[in-house]
Amino acid sequence: MKYDWVIVGAGLTGATLAERLAVERGARVLVVERRRHLAGNAYDHYDEKGVLVHRYGPHIFHTRDHAVFEYLSRFTTWRPYIHKVMAEIQGQQVPLPFNLNTLQALYPKRLAERLEQKLVQRFGHGARVPILKLMATDDPDLRELAEFVYQNVFEGYTRKQWGLAPEELDPSVTGRVPVVVARDDRYFTDPYQALPADGYTRMVERMLDHPRIHLLLGTEFKEVEGSLRFKRLIYTGPIDAFFDYLHGPLPYRSLRFTWQNLRAVRVQPVAVINYPNEHRFTRTTEYKHLTGQESPFTAIAYEYPEAHEPGKNDPYYPIPREENRERYQRYREEASKLRGVFFAGRLADYRYYNMDQAVARALKLYRELP
Ligand SMILES: Cc1cc2nc3c(=O)[nH]c(=O)nc-3n(C[C@H](O)[C@H](O)[C@H](O)COP(=O)(O)OP(=O)(O)OC[C@H]3O[C@@H](n4cnc5c(N)ncnc54)[C@H](O)[C@@H]3O)c2cc1C
Repeated sequence: MKYDWVIVGAGLTGATLAERLAVERGARVLVVERRRHLAGNAYDHYDEKGVLVHRYGPHIFHTRDHAVFEYLSRFTTWRPYIHKVMAEIQGQQVPLPFNLNTLQALYPKRLAERLEQKLVQRFGHGARVPILKLMATDDPDLRELAEFVYQNVFEGYTRKQWGLAPEELDPSVTGRVPVVVARDDRYFTDPYQALPADGYTRMVERMLDHPRIHLLLGTEFKEVEGSLRFKRLIYTGPIDAFFDYLHGPLPYRSLRFTWQNLRAVRVQPVAVINYPNEHRFTRTTEYKHLTGQESPFTAIAYEYPEAHEPGKNDPYYPIPREENRERYQRYREEASKLRGVFFAGRLADYRYYNMDQAVARALKLYRELP
């Protein structure tokens, strides 16, 4: 069959574009996916004890983008969920992001009260103060607090997560870590926070369930490219691989997960616990908090960051450094020379996207397509 479009990748970017093209334009679309499943990194499935887990790390949908939420709501109902994270610091599990509750848990009462007063006076109740801003204040108490947060929450975690010292990364990474001047333990503050009621995989299945969309799972694009007949291509895989690493590989951080399945209702107080300073893993996730599933079993994933090696493990996070962005720009220039080939998604754009951003990016590209 001759297709109007071939889309490489069945993650949220590819699924959104395939759905729009088939439904709105009546196009015939083939989606080619190298994994044996849909939904890309948002893939979820039932483990051997029947617990719903996310294979590639915990995925919490959160957005301010009403249009994206409306669009995805065509394919799923939602389970409202407010994400909470704790960090193990100095032997205690305390709320993250660092907020007034964390301050009280870790500091002696009188000192915590004084610092709280100073934070409220200086930044106002409810402010989310970037750690670098707090470090730059003229108040020695607040500077000391900033130093404490930097060392205990940020520094060790960053070294494990990226394999680099904080100063080797873009300041934007450090700049984002906030101290929250409120008793607010929510990890995200977006108005829409939820998980698809039947899971991400089911949601993506519904997006792609259309007579004009064909799926080729477990298939590497380069292996079938020559035998496919199509007019245009959308590629959501790694842009450096598409060009056979012409300008060298774009560096990524990867992750390895180990799993524990226990006969217990729940073992953690919240879904995610971060370990900034101890252990080699960065965090543990107990999935039943996210999904609300009832089961006599519970599943915990331990997350170990590691270097990405093409062919050995999956690329997860683009490494935010100027030299990598420059290399990516060289691939962009190659891409701009091609006709009828379009690039989008976290791997093709070499950019960390949350799921809502990936869908927004796909919807935008869809509107621009010829
Ligand atoms: C650990 C982790 C946790 C995250 N948590 C959250 C979260 O809580 N909330 C949130 O909003 N976002 C989260 N994200 C981000 C989310 O995973 C991305 O926004 C989303 O995956 C982007 O979708 P995508 O389609 O662009 O990419 P992907 O999901 O990576 O899909 C691309 C697909 O293309 C396929 N592919 C690539 N190359 C080829 C090829 N040559 N041939 C065939 N197929 C190919 C890949 O196998 C993959 O399935 C998280 C990401 C990570 C890594």
